[in-house]
Amino acid sequence: MIDGLMMDFPLTLTHFLRRARDFFGHHEIVSRKGDKSLTRISYADFYKRCAKLAHALRRLGVTRGDRVATLAWNHSGHLEAYLGVPCMGAVVHTLNLRLSPDELGYIAAHAEDKVLLVDASLLPLFEKFREKVPSIRHVIVFDADSSKPLPDYATSYEALLAPEVEDYDFPHLGENESCMLCYTSGTTGNPKGVLYSHRSTVLHALGACMRDNLGIACTDTVLPVVPMFHAAAWGLTFASVATGAKLVMPGPHLDPTSLLELMAAEGVTFAGGVPTIWIGILDLLDKDPKRFDLGAMRTMVIGGSAAPPALIEGFRARHGLEVTHAWGMTETSPLGTVARLKPELQDRSDAEKLTFRASQGFATVLVEQRHTSEDGTVLPWDGKSMGELEVRGPWVARAYYGGEGKDRFTKDGWFRTGDVVTIDVEGYVNITDRSKDVVKSGGEWISSVALENALMAHPAVLEAAVFAAAHPKWSERPVAAIVEREGKTVTDAELATFLESKFPKYWLPDAYVRVAQVPRTSTGKFMKSKLRDQYGDVLTKK
Ligand code: ADP
Repeated sequence: MIDGLMMDFPLTLTHFLRRARDFFGHHEIVSRKGDKSLTRISYADFYKRCAKLAHALRRLGVTRGDRVATLAWNHSGHLEAYLGVPCMGAVVHTLNLRLSPDELGYIAAHAEDKVLLVDASLLPLFEKFREKVPSIRHVIVFDADSSKPLPDYATSYEALLAPEVEDYDFPHLGENESCMLCYTSGTTGNPKGVLYSHRSTVLHALGACMRDNLGIACTDTVLPVVPMFHAAAWGLTFASVATGAKLVMPGPHLDPTSLLELMAAEGVTFAGGVPTIWIGILDLLDKDPKRFDLGAMRTMVIGGSAAPPALIEGFRARHGLEVTHAWGMTETSPLGTVARLKPELQDRSDAEKLTFRASQGFATVLVEQRHTSEDGTVLPWDGKSMGELEVRGPWVARAYYGGEGKDRFTKDGWFRTGDVVTIDVEGYVNITDRSKDVVKSGGEWISSVALENALMAHPAVLEAAVFAAAHPKWSERPVAAIVEREGKTVTDAELATFLESKFPKYWLPDAYVRVAQVPRTSTGKFMKSKLRDQYGDVLTKK
């Protein structure tokens, strides 16, 4: 054996921070505040503020490995925590502001957070779980308003940074040291902590920059609609700092009009968010196609739950906008698979091409995929065999923080995703369901994702979510919750006829319920558990 003679240069975020300052000092981070006004900061000033934050945290007694929590929308101050905290050796822990105070209290106590950086507008939320987290010794308010007094336990972020110097002797960190802690939303059981390392985060960011993945480059203007508390904003922020891409942070305004205005005004080339965001955006573009100039847009990445083919095709056919569909999880940093069309598939029919692009795609470089049956047998890539997706790679978790959920990690080193999939001969993954959402009718499994994708292709349907309802004979049967488009109506019989040709008869929903909006999870996905709670007995009541 002979070792290579290359430098042992640790993969740390500090390199990204310095690089953005040195080569892209004038590139901007634009943030939209609560009052809709914009602030702009250059990467050169961003570096200085990260240095000041590092000094301030050291002054407060934060040391290597301590957890510094954030409870904030997407803005440049939050990004300063994303870089400043890990580069001084501590761990940034992003709290999800859409969770309940009980959940937040549990998570922050589990993480033993020492400091909290919080938006002023979210202080009332913090008040509701403050008692549960005695480990938090300092509360720092990002956008404290000088005209309103802060609670006596809190300090203003700007006042904290003001006396500090604008450079910091960032420590030499080992690449395996942790940089960020992010909890899954815990739809099953308690939320679990995923602890990213500098190495995993750097590799993931580089992966995201590959053309075959998201292709983020210094020429891009990136709008992370995905919140910074959701799986590290999918790595879009780190990839932007690494490459010097301009960043546009939407703050709390995530409605279609606000987002489209921002995209047009700032010349956004790349935006990422969950399908529910894009459903609203497409609807508004359809109603008013000339209002927003999205000429700069290169691609929009959609992930977090399945992007309906009708959504992908709607953007392409009616607005000339390209969608990149990607799959991932908090546990996978999150990029796992991306639906790129291989060159050898380019001459397939349009319908077939859409099928590939609307699939979850295949594993990115450095991620490996397989799927297994319930007894652990590895299944063939035949497009038919259904099993649980498993992945491995340098940015996939090998354990949860605190050691919970050991059953999610196989003995031979794979992570069990809980997603039920088929994989075709080309390697394209198709998620039929999350295991807890699949409808188990008699001995058969019915894919809620396939049904809702089909329903959302109906011109009168804006949103559709299919869930399992209890059934005396079949144990479970599918029921669809439907949101009709403004000014349109559709009958149950019309929907059934629409689905008939696409699915076996026993797949068709037994009932349709009309709702004003499909309930959302804390990360903006369709919350089927709530639909099950609310309508799970519609078939037994009949
Ligand atoms: P949670 O949804 O529990 O808050 P994550 O954001 O980590 O946490 O969710 C990961 C899950 O989201 C995956 O296991 C999968 O079920 C779903 N998911 C993510 N991307 C996609 C996609 N492109 N298509 C279908 N499902 C997806």
